[in-house]
Amino acid sequence: MTRVALLGATGSIGRQALQVIEADPGLELVAATSGTTPIDGLAPLTQVGGDPTGLLGQAEPDVVLNAMLGFAGLPATIWALEHGVTLALANKESLVAAGELALAARERGGGMLIPVDSEHSALFQCAQLGEPESVVLTASGGPFRGRTRDELTDVTAAEALAHPTWSMGAKITVDSATLANKGLEVIEAHFLFAIPYERIEVVVHPTSIVHGLVRFRDGASIAHLGYPDMRVPISYALTFPNRAATPVPPLDLTAGSLEFFEPDVETFRMLALAREAGERGGTYPCAYNGANEVAVAAFLEGRIGFLDIAALVEDALGRVDGAPAGDLAELREADRQARELVERHAA
Ligand code: NAD
Ligand code: MG
Repeated sequence: MTRVALLGATGSIGRQALQVIEADPGLELVAATSGTTPIDGLAPLTQVGGDPTGLLGQAEPDVVLNAMLGFAGLPATIWALEHGVTLALANKESLVAAGELALAARERGGGMLIPVDSEHSALFQCAQLGEPESVVLTASGGPFRGRTRDELTDVTAAEALAHPTWSMGAKITVDSATLANKGLEVIEAHFLFAIPYERIEVVVHPTSIVHGLVRFRDGASIAHLGYPDMRVPISYALTFPNRAATPVPPLDLTAGSLEFFEPDVETFRMLALAREAGERGGTYPCAYNGANEVAVAAFLEGRIGFLDIAALVEDALGRVDGAPAGDLAELREADRQARELVERHAA
């Protein structure tokens, strides 16, 4: 039996993870958390809100599935890596913000880090076949693909929340509309696969059938295909190195064609800003993430417009010092400063 602790059990990933755990007799849910919703009885150990690391110590899981939202997922990510417990990571924000510290924790603890993010799960699976020379992340392009900046000035939260291919939580859905999600994923890929930014490519692929592609030095490229359904990468992360059955239908290759386009990084600034933050290193990725979290919340509350998200993040990145964080306290301070810079303008 694999003992699973599920953090963020009431969210989009959390609820799909419960289905996966329920359907697989080899998986046992030993602990679960949520942000605000009561979850008594969902697992032998439960917690609502707060730092989940005490609960994790009690639960002694084999795998922590971190499906919490945003920077709040950081303590659990570090805890798992440093205790040598396998980390199934959906919470990309923690790895983006704390990349170096998280990898140092993994070094100390020897924990396995298996991505749940669909593109990274795809790349991780392809990378089982050899050392990647470069990687390609696919992006659906979100609900505003093909629009000009002018056409984005007045878009509403409701329009941003209508994602064409994936059904997800509100924050990541807005991130998909701005392409910040792909930006976060570029940084996530950098840390997960220890690969320089110039060898991480993004292509727009509207139907989200190809999730990722790895190029090898002999000229071979291996891609991962499947219908967009997060139960597949969740199941893979929880059962690695095995594969369990899921209710996802086999892919029908005759049903449509596969199309790929260059992303429009002029209109969707958040992708270019992520690359810049990643390349500058230090706490720039942390600032990018923190600033984005605050800007997205303000957009969802109707306090700022859609294009203000990138403008405010760019402004914050221009003001922070980006110095590397020596420890988690310094990282938290970098996160706080970036948030405050955006908060001030979005009030
Ligand atoms: P969601 O908003 O639907 O759910 C988030 C979960 O985290 C909820 O259970 C919520 O109660 C909990 N939570 C929020 N703040 C918390 C806090 N401070 N303490 C404890 N729990 C807290 O989000 P989601 O769409 O399920 O996304 C979760 C994570 O997975 C995000 O990092 C997201 O980027 C990533 N992810 C999601 C998808 C997807 O398909 N939804 C795909 C790839 C990656
Ligand atoms: Mg993804």
